[in-house]
Amino acid sequence: MEKIKIGISSCLLGEKVRYDGGHKLDQYITETLGRYFAWVPVCPEVEYGLPVPREGMRLVGDPASPRLLTIRTGVDHTEGMLKWSEKKLKVLEREELCGFIFKSRSPSSGIAGVRVYTPSGMPSHKGVGIFGGAFMRTFPLIPVIDEGRLHNPALRENFIERVFVYKRWKEFIERGAHLRDLITFHTEHKLLILSHSPKHFSDLGRLVARAREYNSDALLSEYIGKLMRGLQLIATVKKNTNVLLHLMGFFKRHLSSDEKQELLEVIEHYHRELIPLIVPVTLIKHYVRKFDEPYLKRQYYLNPHPIELMLRNHV
Ligand code: SF4
Repeated sequence: MEKIKIGISSCLLGEKVRYDGGHKLDQYITETLGRYFAWVPVCPEVEYGLPVPREGMRLVGDPASPRLLTIRTGVDHTEGMLKWSEKKLKVLEREELCGFIFKSRSPSSGIAGVRVYTPSGMPSHKGVGIFGGAFMRTFPLIPVIDEGRLHNPALRENFIERVFVYKRWKEFIERGAHLRDLITFHTEHKLLILSHSPKHFSDLGRLVARAREYNSDALLSEYIGKLMRGLQLIATVKKNTNVLLHLMGFFKRHLSSDEKQELLEVIEHYHRELIPLIVPVTLIKHYVRKFDEPYLKRQYYLNPHPIELMLRNHV
């Protein structure tokens, strides 16, 4: 499999670029995710021109538009960092990234919950790093996460699933984005979408059904915008249970009453959070193969990302 290009804060790869000369190597990222992802490292502070080591920085002022200041001497790097970010984002646009993993809490790289200090020194946790914020404004569709959230099993699964969906979308665009291919793309993702958001499932279904009424650029942009926003919603136990019961309906005629009872019990155990999602999904995949169910064979819900990542063993 061709590796998927993902942007990453350089210090998470072990590069010694932090203000104190250290790094923040994350072995889950380098060793586990590194088997599937090709990294495009970015250190805003060093690439902008600051030395290693350097004086630490922090965000100060209004959380909606804070200043980036050095902590001891108060040098203001806001405009410089914004200008550098603008240039860097143009370079990154050519990289065709399918995701970005940012360093959490950094005044340059953070994407949520970064401390912003008032002039009196009291911090709130409502800030976004200067480069992290610029990246999200420029590329609102590209999945992003920070390494802190990456260690939460539900958020990790959600992020990686979106990366794979976005990669497939880019491949679909490269193939020419024909209407019949959009219908196929949508059909194959239906149950995955349903597991995140019944509302987006209905909206996207209606959009595809009326596809001929749109010009193709407007259609594609509306579809992918809605899809990526819908997938950001977490696939909760309740929503997954709903999809599993829906899947079970496909085997009504095939399963004996014993087998139905067993499958229902497994789904019920998942619903009570006694077992992880991988268990009912594996049993259903067994029936999909056994009864050669063509519609379900194509559903990415059953194979959203490589099984070796074991993401559904923990949700
Ligand atoms: S958090 Fe961002 S700016 Fe700081 S060292 Fe890491 S990559 Fe560089």
